[in-house]
Amino acid sequence: MDNFYDTIVVGGGISGLTSALILKRKRFKVVLFESSFRPGGSILTHKVDDFIFELGPNTVLSNCKEMDDLFDLCDLLEKKLTAFPDSKKRFIVKNGNIVPLPLGLFSLITTKVFSTKAKMRVLKEFFVPPKRDAKEESVAEFAIRRLGKEFLDYAVGPFVSGVYAGDPDKLSLEHAVPKIYAIEQKYGSLIKGAIAKRRGGQPSGDLISFPPGLQALPETIASLLEDSFKLKSRVRKISKSGDLYEVKVQLEDGTSKLFHSRSVIVAVPADSASEILSELDEDFSEGISSLPYAPIAVVSLGYKKEDVGHPLNGFGFLAPEVENRFVLGCLFPSSLFPNRAKKGCVSLTAFIGGAIHPERAFLEEEDILEKTIKDITPLLRIKGKPIFEKVTIWHKAIPQYLLGHRAYKSSAEIFEKRNPGAFISGNLLYGVSVANCIQNSTNLTKRVISFLQGYESDIM
Ligand SMILES: Cc1cc2nc3c(=O)[nH]c(=O)nc-3n(C[C@H](O)[C@H](O)[C@H](O)COP(=O)(O)OP(=O)(O)OC[C@H]3O[C@@H](n4cnc5c(N)ncnc54)[C@H](O)[C@@H]3O)c2cc1C
Repeated sequence: MDNFYDTIVVGGGISGLTSALILKRKRFKVVLFESSFRPGGSILTHKVDDFIFELGPNTVLSNCKEMDDLFDLCDLLEKKLTAFPDSKKRFIVKNGNIVPLPLGLFSLITTKVFSTKAKMRVLKEFFVPPKRDAKEESVAEFAIRRLGKEFLDYAVGPFVSGVYAGDPDKLSLEHAVPKIYAIEQKYGSLIKGAIAKRRGGQPSGDLISFPPGLQALPETIASLLEDSFKLKSRVRKISKSGDLYEVKVQLEDGTSKLFHSRSVIVAVPADSASEILSELDEDFSEGISSLPYAPIAVVSLGYKKEDVGHPLNGFGFLAPEVENRFVLGCLFPSSLFPNRAKKGCVSLTAFIGGAIHPERAFLEEEDILEKTIKDITPLLRIKGKPIFEKVTIWHKAIPQYLLGHRAYKSSAEIFEKRNPGAFISGNLLYGVSVANCIQNSTNLTKRVISFLQGYESDIM
């Protein structure tokens, strides 16, 4: 049969690319359709005038074997860059100033970020009994119960803002930060868990990128996929034709073509997944369409080094909600990796909007730029005007795993049972970081391979 594949992958972000490359290397007949003109989805690097800006993720936490395996497959293991040691230092806005966040127990005791009362409250965490009832808890409820309000405001809240651009009152602890949830379940306390992990010598992972920026990863995978990777090919519909999946693809010239496969991997954002699966599975399609997202505006700025008073000697700063700033936070990319800024210059990347202030990400670009510069100028003691500025808007930047997220996971499990050979991938359900996407896609691909092998033995 013409246009017949073992697997059709929909979506050329890091999730879909990971699956397609593994399948290709295992010699399955695979094709990946990506609707846009470039691979990478949210991973997007912008090179301009000797600056390298990340417009999506800036760093990837390299903390899993699946990521090393993927880099190995792409011959990128030796080429990865580890962030400068200073990047371990993180800042927080407190009373209108930028102050370093404590990194360990000793600095927690000496820091001025938290009041003595808050510090005592954190140390008491050791003795707070673990929650054992089944009621789902928000990140904020968990933080207040175990660590107190001040720690929620100045540590936990900014942390979930940094990862999800999310609202701690609404995010589900169990689904948004499953590792923290699991530590309480296993060890009874976060401090006890930290001690056990330290004793076990568990590595926490490095923040990494590549010399030309993160986009080197999707671009390398796409080039290794060769003619199994199709750009400007939008999947319109997935349906069933006998035992096979029938995938309708709109090609660059506007015409549509049908492709057939034993299995499909859907690795696209929720609205797209809902649209293309509406015929195959109405229930799943309807349910997933309501998965909430937070919008983010990313403001990339280049300054002459002498115009920025702050030494930018760290990863960046986060602005707690209680500080009423315009920006959610700001990274210092030229302090993370070499060659991120033009000689004699520094680069900054600010994030605006998120789940708490979505309307800010929908302001006019000029407005966003002006308000961002006004906000960070006193914080970073900036004197001059930027020599480079760019605003990038992500209307649906990050899916939000809110209270009740379990229902989305269950509906995906039911979908996969109802539709053997069809798999839901991407960042919709099990983690939004690039590391989560690589790890989950690798594991999902193992299930696809078992399915394909089972299929072969069924028809033989
Ligand atoms: C501003 C921002 C900052 C971030 N910062 C970090 C960070 O610092 N560290 C980190 O680890 N993570 C970060 N993330 C999160 C991370 O980048 C994403 O969760 C991850 O890259 C998602 O990958 P994905 O492949 O699942 O989906 P996506 O990257 O969304 O890819 C989906 C792809 O599907 C394509 N598509 C959609 N519909 C169709 C269709 N019908 N047919 C064919 N193709 C289709 C899209 O064009 C897209 O290329 C950030 C995200 C954003 C937006």
